[in-house]
Amino acid sequence: MPVKTYNYDDHTQLSPHFNVQEFKCKCRQNHNILISNELISKLEELYTALNCSKIVINSGYRCPEHDRNVGGDGCGQHTKGTAADIVCYDQNSLPISSKLVSCSAQDLNFRGIANITDEYICTHLDVRENGIYFGDETTGTNTVTNDFYTYYGISKRSDYKIVAKGIDVSYSQGEIDWDKVKESDTVDFVLIRAGYGKEYSQVDEKFERNYKECKRLEIPCGAYWYSYALTKEDALKEADVCLEVIKNKKFEYPIYFDIEDGSQSSLGREKISEISETFCKRVEEAGYWVGIYSYKSFLESNLTEEIRNRYAVWIAHTGIEKTSYLGQYGIWQFSHTGRIDGINGNVDLNYCYSDYPELVKKAGLNGYKKSDTDTKPETNPKKSKNITLIDDGVAYFGILTAE
Ligand SMILES: [Zn+2]
Ligand SMILES: [Zn+2]
Repeated sequence: MPVKTYNYDDHTQLSPHFNVQEFKCKCRQNHNILISNELISKLEELYTALNCSKIVINSGYRCPEHDRNVGGDGCGQHTKGTAADIVCYDQNSLPISSKLVSCSAQDLNFRGIANITDEYICTHLDVRENGIYFGDETTGTNTVTNDFYTYYGISKRSDYKIVAKGIDVSYSQGEIDWDKVKESDTVDFVLIRAGYGKEYSQVDEKFERNYKECKRLEIPCGAYWYSYALTKEDALKEADVCLEVIKNKKFEYPIYFDIEDGSQSSLGREKISEISETFCKRVEEAGYWVGIYSYKSFLESNLTEEIRNRYAVWIAHTGIEKTSYLGQYGIWQFSHTGRIDGINGNVDLNYCYSDYPELVKKAGLNGYKKSDTDTKPETNPKKSKNITLIDDGVAYFGILTAE
């Protein structure tokens, strides 16, 4: 495993994203720098795998003296030039959780991997010669797992299979020619804006029409409610108005609480989580499968992991090939600029990873009674479906209270 020695003032660009200077010992003495070739090529792979905007090297090479000064034993991986403590940033310049970095580093066969900060932002990575060290230094310096996916409860993204493609619509799409949409054969489901805010009058002006048309053409649909709630009380009111608007209707997809408004972002994590939970709880108690919609950074900064794990998640994250969102989600909105026959202008495009129609009916939610499915008995329901049901538990988020 070639480790090269560089002079302290060497500015060689080692690879597209890393320069010798970034790995310099932080002791401020002018001594040589050791850097492993393998470490650099693996860091490049990580950069691509996580779709980073940058990777910051907090600590690269350490001379034995400096290694001891920062708590090491003077002969660790950093002193051999085979380790780096890094922070990865996503396309929005936000740090990527070291939980996700650890999983990705594991896929790339780094041999030493450990979260090293309480905030799960900084990760130690190395390409040690012998053995494996998979740690989480918030719990000490021992190996904690042989699989970070299991340890952190993260689903492998490669296990996410697209089972349906859909769009979401509101008044802004105007008068949609639903026959043409149906004919286009590109839309498996539709999420319809039901309304917004807390007053009775705030029903989306195209909701009734869009809903009726989906029913007429048998296009499975769900609904979403754009929130302006600033308090728990607002959220309760919004939930009640939403329930009134969707009353006596049937939905094959969840009812989503759309929380993303600029007026809410300054409320903070605790408040926003409370508002979201209040709405979701109320609507769920009324017999609906409930979810939360927002964009990636809003979800990550403003909603507790507990809430994001508890309800179905519909995540907006556009302009990238693969979302780096950490956590479960059932639907990914990947584009705001889709074009579909029958719709003028742009429409949002979504991939769905859960067979919601099947699950909703089975659970007897969203206006469906359990007996609705009983009347059409299938000898082997799994085999008769032409779409696969995700088996890793992802599909079941959001119906924990359903039997
Ligand atoms: Zn040094
Ligand atoms: Zn380290």
